[in-house]
Amino acid sequence: MDKTYRIIFSSLTKGKEYFKRQMLKLGVSEDISEGIIKKSPVILKRGLSLRDARAYADAVIEAGGKVLIEIEKSMSEDFREGGFPGVVSLKNFTMCPQCGYKQLKMEKCIRCGLRFDPKI
Ligand SMILES: [Zn+2]
Repeated sequence: MDKTYRIIFSSLTKGKEYFKRQMLKLGVSEDISEGIIKKSPVILKRGLSLRDARAYADAVIEAGGKVLIEIEKSMSEDFREGGFPGVVSLKNFTMCPQCGYKQLKMEKCIRCGLRFDPKI
């Protein structure tokens, strides 16, 4: 099975109203955009090919969003780990020890920029 990718919206780059207006042009209602902003970081889309993921990410970046593309494990691996497709397992989340912001595990905190210990 080919690898699939997911798009994660992490933050706004150009302000809420701008983002909502631009997302509307992409067929996303203002309510949904509002929800995306509130829940961020949040997975916008899963199971995309790299090409689709890049196109999708570009569109959201144009709309004033900061996004990440992450490689996904295959569905069968998710099942083996007891995960549920569509829900990110808890071990992918971390809480910043400096500012307490809950987020997907990455190199550094998306809010305060603190580098996470790679051993954790
Ligand atoms: Zn932080």
